[in-house]
Amino acid sequence: MIASIIGSGVAGLSSSIHLAKKGYSVHVFEKNATYGGKLSQIQLENYRFDAGPSLFTMPQYVTEMLDQEHLDKFEFEKLEILCNYFFTDGTTFNAPSNKESFLSLASDTFQEPENQIRKFLKKSEKTYEITAPVFLQSSLHKLKTYLSKTGIYGILNLWRIDMFRTMNSAISYTFKNKNLIQIFNRYATYNGSDPFRAPATLNVIPHLEYHYGAFLPKEGMQSIAKILYEQALSLGVTFHFNSEVRSIYKSDNQLTHIELPNKKLFKSDIFIANCDAKLVYKKLLRTHVPQKIKKAENSSSALIFYWGIKKEFPELDVHNIFFTEDYKQEFNSIFQAKNCQNDPTIYINITSKKIKVDAPEGCENWFVMINTPCNEGQDWDRFRAEAKEKIISKLSKTLGCDIASLIEVEEYLDPVRIEQFTGSNKGSLYGSSSNHRMSAFFRQANFSSIYKNLYFCGGSVHPGGGIPLCLLSAKILSDIIPNANSRK
Ligand SMILES: Cc1cc2nc3c(=O)[nH]c(=O)nc-3n(C[C@H](O)[C@H](O)[C@H](O)COP(=O)(O)OP(=O)(O)OC[C@H]3O[C@@H](n4cnc5c(N)ncnc54)[C@H](O)[C@@H]3O)c2cc1C
Repeated sequence: MIASIIGSGVAGLSSSIHLAKKGYSVHVFEKNATYGGKLSQIQLENYRFDAGPSLFTMPQYVTEMLDQEHLDKFEFEKLEILCNYFFTDGTTFNAPSNKESFLSLASDTFQEPENQIRKFLKKSEKTYEITAPVFLQSSLHKLKTYLSKTGIYGILNLWRIDMFRTMNSAISYTFKNKNLIQIFNRYATYNGSDPFRAPATLNVIPHLEYHYGAFLPKEGMQSIAKILYEQALSLGVTFHFNSEVRSIYKSDNQLTHIELPNKKLFKSDIFIANCDAKLVYKKLLRTHVPQKIKKAENSSSALIFYWGIKKEFPELDVHNIFFTEDYKQEFNSIFQAKNCQNDPTIYINITSKKIKVDAPEGCENWFVMINTPCNEGQDWDRFRAEAKEKIISKLSKTLGCDIASLIEVEEYLDPVRIEQFTGSNKGSLYGSSSNHRMSAFFRQANFSSIYKNLYFCGGSVHPGGGIPLCLLSAKILSDIIPNANSRK
């Protein structure tokens, strides 16, 4: 039985492992010259940068797929500091990953009762317990999910998951301090959403960091893709790089072949799309995108500068945030006005803080990112030039030195490049946003209801974007697909 996977993003790689273990002869077709998709890296002279994801949570979803040999090769460390926050009123806060230390320091810094913050995280934990088995770990589109013990428990407890107010209203109701509210609102950006519109159910995200922790692989984020690739190879998976799938052929309600460059056809028994689901319908199947998927709002995109900086900043850590004064205005710019806003929140990731070889001695590799709208045809050259000026001015002011003069090497990624490089619809980072309380139901299911042998995984489908959820999409898909020897 042959399984063809279109795309070698993190979900495509993990699907290939699951299906090889189920006895399929697996072929992965990737349009780029290498694997990883958004999870890739850039080398600029002596600086190495992770190009996309920088925050690694729930590593167990990676390690559970590895055999002992690969497990031994994949090293990662738990970060003691989750993030250094810089606020416009001059407050700074280095968030410890240890929950008790966080509670005590946050209570002192933000003048909020420790117990109130503890209660907030407790609720976050409870929401995770209720939602994860149904909304994250199972197919939302199979009856058996709702008839299982955890499914019934989830449904009976839906009233407890805070679906009917926004993240920001729940957080602002709980806390008075503007800075602490901003820290918790920021978790909406972990899946490209807007805390002023997304349901308070998303307040589940802080639990993942404060309970399970944040991690950094010893060889950078890209090594997550590398270890999955090596595991897949060891299971006999065949990779075809520089092999863009141009079209999928069908006969009645079955897919039959994929078309590759030079009109080469490849026949398979099952097909797994790891590329963006909207692209599968529009470009590969040349059919209409199902209405509910079409309607789903894209997640945010990003503008990233990769800067080699010839100086070290002891006040910075691996993850750093320089907040805007007006968070609501920033999210309006991203999701409504879809333009470049005046005072963007800036995120800086510096892996060389832990991985010394990522930058020359005395220097740092800065991944400087702002959230942006998706590509709707804006003038991105102008957007980038304006944003760069604002970023440099804000960082220079906050860090008390001229950042522009410290930049040795530079590269950038914007929504257009993200779209070109990964095929992501309009350059969205996480597929569709979770801005609507029914968002989970607007995502493409992990299987097609039209074509019997078509399945989906990756950030644009259930359960959503981000590395852990992409890995879960592959796991759900493999639960649905029968073993090769039991398939007729
Ligand atoms: C800048 C940025 C920052 C992020 N930060 C984080 C973070 O900190 N933590 C986190 O967990 N997540 C983060 N994410 C999101 C995370 O990277 C994605 O959700 C995840 O990597 C998507 O994986 P995927 O399996 O959906 O595939 P993708 O990475 O989207 O890859 C899809 C692959 O399919 C290939 N492809 C497309 N069309 C075709 C075709 N026709 N034929 C063959 N191949 C094709 C593409 O070339 C690509 O390799 C970030 C993303 C970006 C871009």
